[in-house]
Amino acid sequence: MSNLEGKTALITGASSGIGAATARKLAEAGITVGMAARRTDRLETLKTEIEAQGGKAVVIKMDVSDVSSVEAGVAKLVKTTGSIDILFNNAGLMPLSDIDQFKTDEWRRMVDVNINGVLNTTAAVLPHMITAKSGHIFNTSSIAGRKVFSGLTVYCATKHAVTAFSDGLRMEVGKKHNIRVTCIQPGAVATELYDQISDPAVKAQMENLRNDMTFLEGDDIANTVLYAVQAPGHVDLAEIFIMPTEQGW
Ligand code: NDP
Repeated sequence: MSNLEGKTALITGASSGIGAATARKLAEAGITVGMAARRTDRLETLKTEIEAQGGKAVVIKMDVSDVSSVEAGVAKLVKTTGSIDILFNNAGLMPLSDIDQFKTDEWRRMVDVNINGVLNTTAAVLPHMITAKSGHIFNTSSIAGRKVFSGLTVYCATKHAVTAFSDGLRMEVGKKHNIRVTCIQPGAVATELYDQISDPAVKAQMENLRNDMTFLEGDDIANTVLYAVQAPGHVDLAEIFIMPTEQGW
């Protein structure tokens, strides 16, 4: 029996990409995974797959930008499992465009999901972790949360916010509440993230990156989450900057 057996994780953005891969990985390790996203058909399929492997999964319909949806989802998971030991704030989107295209609806959606989504879920889950005097929060930032790239300006701004929030949160809840915080900052990962790009030229440019390098897979990120979760309690892997070997920028 692993030391993770019986623990519960809430994973946002679990319907595809990094979140889905991490749900599979944590479930294999004996963790009950609360899988949150808007596309519940996808989550139901994943739940069936996880349960066929002997894992435990709970489907949670959640829009992370909607406070009442987040609160209801967290309440459902706590009612089902009694606790939330791990929170993976992973839901995000990247509809890239140049600033002078003024795609302000897309800017707002990125702020609502990438920043406010992280704050909403953290606010809903943290009280349970404080009561339990333990917990581990993962936030998916990006290489775009460490550096700024032209053409990715608003996305970079949102991911820099996630990096800053993660570090401050770590300082505030580590010693005081015995809660670990890990900020994950990946380079290019093969997921559906580029599907959100509405500008065809920018989308093609991003897709072409696949010809330059072998992208990371969602599974590669899931492995780092598992590694950080399994570290002894006195060890907080505060930042994980994980890159494709061939990504030369
Ligand atoms: P995907 O597009 O495959 O996954 C994004 C996930 O976010 C989906 O499950 C989607 O679910 C969910 N999501 C989007 N909006 C909402 C919302 N309002 N409420 C709840 N869930 C939502 O991309 P990735 O797996 O790549 O993305 C995961 C994270 O990784 C993101 O934060 C992204 O910024 C980050 N990242 C990705 C990199 C990459 O190269 N792929 C590199 C660095 C960071 P649904 O639509 O069903 O709600």
